[in-house]
Amino acid sequence: MNTVTRPRILVVGAGFAGVECVRRLERKLAPGEADVTLVTPFAYQLYLPLLPQVASGVLTPQSIALSLRRSKKYRTRIIPGGAIGVDLKAKVCVVRTITDQIVNEPYDYIVLAPGSITRTFDIPGLTDHAFGMKTLAEAAYIRDHVISQLDLADASQDPAERASRLQFVVVGGGYAGTETAACLQRLTHAAVKRYPRLDPSLIKWHLIDIAPKLMPELGDKLGRAAQEVLRRRGIDISLGVSIEKAAAEEVTFTDGRVVPTRTLIWTAGVVASPLIATLGAETVKGRLAVTAEMCLPGHDGVFALGDSAAVPDLAKGQEGAVCPPTAQHAMRQGRHVAENIIATLHNQPMRPYVHKDLGLVVDLGGTDAVSKPLGIELHGLPAQAVARGYHWSALRTGVAKARVMTNWMLNAIAGDDFVRTGFQARKPAKLKDFEYTDAYLTPEQVRERIEGSGRAQL
Ligand SMILES: Cc1cc2nc3c(=O)[nH]c(=O)nc-3n(C[C@H](O)[C@H](O)[C@H](O)COP(=O)(O)OP(=O)(O)OC[C@H]3O[C@@H](n4cnc5c(N)ncnc54)[C@H](O)[C@@H]3O)c2cc1C
Repeated sequence: MNTVTRPRILVVGAGFAGVECVRRLERKLAPGEADVTLVTPFAYQLYLPLLPQVASGVLTPQSIALSLRRSKKYRTRIIPGGAIGVDLKAKVCVVRTITDQIVNEPYDYIVLAPGSITRTFDIPGLTDHAFGMKTLAEAAYIRDHVISQLDLADASQDPAERASRLQFVVVGGGYAGTETAACLQRLTHAAVKRYPRLDPSLIKWHLIDIAPKLMPELGDKLGRAAQEVLRRRGIDISLGVSIEKAAAEEVTFTDGRVVPTRTLIWTAGVVASPLIATLGAETVKGRLAVTAEMCLPGHDGVFALGDSAAVPDLAKGQEGAVCPPTAQHAMRQGRHVAENIIATLHNQPMRPYVHKDLGLVVDLGGTDAVSKPLGIELHGLPAQAVARGYHWSALRTGVAKARVMTNWMLNAIAGDDFVRTGFQARKPAKLKDFEYTDAYLTPEQVRERIEGSGRAQL
């Protein structure tokens, strides 16, 4: 009988934060020192910043889905499923496996890195008719959907139907929305050449945001440069405007305009994963409130990081500042949490997380980009070189690097074939279908399940 009890470290989420944490633990801890387990619904780490390039067909979906099992050194036990609740007192995480079994996973240390979901508001019709841009399935779905609008408009004899199929609305002028609108506009602009029966002037992209500026974090000059690129391409930008209601065949803007469209892409920010609410702990705008060491106060062995946690931004030096939800922070926080867990296991003090933001890169497709690395403002080709160089070097595996580089080159030389795969046709495609937002337990259900373990049927 095995009487040795090793500390059990449970990492929830295989994103930027979770994977970096696991890899550092694997590297720095001897196999006998701790058992590391990872809960993840997917067998890959998604490189989210390149998602708009998948939607627009510049990259294949596989090229940004990084395998979790590439190397024999990867010895972590992986549970294929999603955490749907955590009982902090009992130190148990409730997991729904991909076969819909519900299992209790006890832990000594838990690292909460489930990331974020698309933030929605109480706008009539929004969750029924909008697509998000947060998962690989959504990006692939949107690509097929956009191409199918061209196919259907081409086949239609009805001018009103044609017009509505050829208008596209993206809400959210942050980097995700701006890149999405820019990349997809390039897709339709290039694709329409293959549809000689379609009038290219009917294709209209709208990018709207309630804020007065696009990507305010870039500063006035670069924000204006990005806006100029989009306007030049014919994208209609409306600032200070949001959505009043959405329906299957039209969207009403808050300024009263009614746009006939079958495509509403919603990228107006993110909120922490619903898993965080199952803890019943203090949050800051939905993100779990943690210390600079990324620990949950009052609960030994609980760490949270990335998009799902409000980690104090010590580098900013402002009272109450928290790190923005970016991959740049998430991956560094992942490594840092691993170090803090190792320090705890070795009875050493933990260190606070400090990282000065390196800036932002925004790929607008082709040779267009704006970036601000280390405060230096760039646009055009130099910005594009920095943007692609940064993402390329941040890809974790050599194979992913090779796939992405090959895709970029192939796309630059041969373009796109605009193939509509139809893999996901006629499947539910609402926000909750892609982001599983209704899969979680309430704090009471978690407690009931743990207390009545063995008896409780959920
Ligand atoms: C379109 C787009 C463009 C972006 N561009 C940039 C950029 O240029 N630069 C930048 O720094 N950041 C960018 N970001 C933001 C960046 O991707 C996120 O901040 C980063 O992914 C956060 O890392 P994370 O590990 O917290 O979450 P994620 O990387 O989202 O990982 C969370 C993981 O947890 C899994 N998960 C979710 N729920 C559960 C659960 N209940 N149980 C188990 N696992 C779960 C998910 O499947 C996912 O694998 C972009 C985001 C988007 C959407």
